[in-house]
Amino acid sequence: MVYGEVGVKGICILGATGSIGVSTLDVAARHPDKYKIVALSANSQIDRLVEQCEQYQPEYAVIADENAAEELISKLKSKNVDAQVLAGVAGLEKIASLPEVDYVMAAIVGAAGLKPTLAAARAGKRILLANKEALVMSGQIFMDEVKKNNAELLPIDSEHNAIFQCMPLDYEKGLSESGITKILLTGSGGPFRTRSSDELENVTPDEACAHPNWSMGRKISVDSATMMNKGLEIIEACWLFNTSPDNIQVVVHPQSVIHSMVQYSDGSVLAQLGQPDMRTPIAHALSWPERIESGVEKLDFFEIARLEFEQPDYERFPCLRLAEDAIRKGGTAPAILNAANEVAVASFLDNELKFTDIAYIVEQTLANLTSRSADSLTEILEDDLAARKEAEQLIRLRVKQV
Ligand code: NAD
Ligand code: MG
Repeated sequence: MVYGEVGVKGICILGATGSIGVSTLDVAARHPDKYKIVALSANSQIDRLVEQCEQYQPEYAVIADENAAEELISKLKSKNVDAQVLAGVAGLEKIASLPEVDYVMAAIVGAAGLKPTLAAARAGKRILLANKEALVMSGQIFMDEVKKNNAELLPIDSEHNAIFQCMPLDYEKGLSESGITKILLTGSGGPFRTRSSDELENVTPDEACAHPNWSMGRKISVDSATMMNKGLEIIEACWLFNTSPDNIQVVVHPQSVIHSMVQYSDGSVLAQLGQPDMRTPIAHALSWPERIESGVEKLDFFEIARLEFEQPDYERFPCLRLAEDAIRKGGTAPAILNAANEVAVASFLDNELKFTDIAYIVEQTLANLTSRSADSLTEILEDDLAARKEAEQLIRLRVKQV
């Protein structure tokens, strides 16, 4: 297969071994006439990455953990796989900018995805953005780079992909100019939607990760349980669709069939519906503006029977308010919120911090640090680091108290 051949797109997957990465490979492999896997990356899951390299024969395999590069090289060799091995952030940035790569799937979890995703923007690629944390941290810089370098940004997060599908093509001229009155951001409410505040105190990581509708990585699963995920998605929507939280309404919809909606001034509401399967938004963004088969089961409305809607509960799920406050404040506040949340979620997953203390740690970190305008990546990364240190310190004190 020749690159640049009409219709054949070279794909780089940042975070290939994760939930989104695996779904992307599944969709791409259904269309070998359209997509060629050029590069795959993982953090430290070497065996998984080697298996994927055997199956998809990429030209590059990147391991973020530099100490693991030697092991990756020897394991690939033992399987007779001829991929060039790179390591670290430089390796990730390189594969995101290769000339033979047309589309970059940004599916690394957390702040670690920021630099390679920015590299894809600078190289003018089509970016399939799953890594919402990158946009939360550095929305203005990221959107500016996309524009400056004529990159294409297509949302993978199911809600944002749904909103994109419900918007007019020229929505960038402004939401009100397009007759849009509100973005209705739906969310399932997570596994603890009906639990009382008292019951939330002692939930375990495994309970938090058992999402009723979606199968996802552990970090985003915990974010869904605290509803910080919906908060991060409000921030993500503000940047993607150039709007403010005033124009975004969170709608809890336990069935996860409607993936989000857009309300227009004439009273129309457009919604995108589908199975809760990330292969739909992935296939949409890969093939846009066309459509391809994704392997997703068709919706059966008689089986679904009913769709329900509820108001979000800001008392039991304070992370929603923390995220809204952070984007209103602007500057590095969302980066501080995101960093503190990553540290608190990791501590909860390690059975150290209580579930209900995740919001406490985020709130206190934001209260103890002073945010500033997010003019450069240096300032954002400095405040990210300061927030991580502050959150770790707060967790040490909190864990000692109980
Ligand atoms: P996951 O934990 O399953 O996978 C994460 C991937 O990132 C893995 O390949 C891992 O090796 C890699 N990675 C982790 N830390 C890294 C580091 N420090 N450096 C380099 N690579 C690293 O996560 P996921 O569920 O696939 O989610 C990925 C991203 O997509 C997240 O930002 C998440 O919010 C977003 N997202 C996921 C879903 C979903 O359904 N899973 C839906 C919407 C958005
Ligand atoms: Mg989502």
